[in-house]
Amino acid sequence: MLRLDKYLADMGTGTRSQVKQMINKGRVSVNGTKILRPEYKVDPGKDAVEADGSRIGYTDFEYYMLHKPAGYVSATEDRQEKTVLNLITGKSRKDLFPVGRLDKDTEGLLLITNDGELAHRLLSPRRHVDKTYLVHLDLPAEHKDAEAFRRGLDIGDEKPTLPARLEMEQNGDGREVRVTIREGRFHQIKRMFEALGKHVVYLKRLSMGSLYLDGTLPPGAYRPLTKEELERLR
Ligand code: URA
Repeated sequence: MLRLDKYLADMGTGTRSQVKQMINKGRVSVNGTKILRPEYKVDPGKDAVEADGSRIGYTDFEYYMLHKPAGYVSATEDRQEKTVLNLITGKSRKDLFPVGRLDKDTEGLLLITNDGELAHRLLSPRRHVDKTYLVHLDLPAEHKDAEAFRRGLDIGDEKPTLPARLEMEQNGDGREVRVTIREGRFHQIKRMFEALGKHVVYLKRLSMGSLYLDGTLPPGAYRPLTKEELERLR
C-alpha cells in the first residue's frame, strides 16, 4: 500500500506539493470516489487512480537500453549539458537514472532504470561485471599492450588496474580494438591507453555483463529491456 500523494508523484503527475494541492482541490479519485486526503492508502496493483479524469497507472520499475550518442552527459540533471535522461521521452517514472557513467564523448550501451538494487549489483567492484568496448586509437595497438592490459596498469591511482583484455579486431591495422574491463574508474580506458602512449579517438560500449547493445538501435534511440534480458541480468 502506498500514499496517494506518493503514488501520483512517483508517476510524475507533479511534485509532492503539487499533487497534494490537486488532491485537496478534489481533482483526484480512487475507484471512482473523490479522495481529499493525500495520506489515503492505495493498492497500486488493484486501485484505479484518476487525476482530472485520466487514469494514472503505476509502474514499480522501468528498464531501458539506450544507445547513448556522443554529446550527452550520464546524469539525471545538468544545468548546461543535455543529459541521457532527456532522451528517454516515454518514461513513466520520474526517478530513473543511468547505471554507471559513460564520458560525454563516449557512445554505446547504457542501462537506464530506477532499480537501485540491480544498479548496485552491476556496479559493485566485487561482482566483476565485464564491460566490453570498441576502441579506435591514434596509433596501432601492439601485442605488448595486450600483455600490459592483462598484467594491470599504473594509471596514477592508488592501485593498478585489475587484469583487462585487449583484442585486436580481425583484419584491422591495430587501431581498432576491443577492450574488456571489470572496473569502472573515471576515464579508465582512455587513461589505460594514455599510460601506453596511445590516444583513444573513439569509444563505444558494446556490452555490460549479459546485456548487449541492440544493433538495430541507432545512436539516441532506446527500448525497454526484454523479459529475457532482464532475467539474465538479475
Ligand atoms: N572508459 C573511458 O575512458 N570512458 C568511458 O566512457 C568508459 C570507459
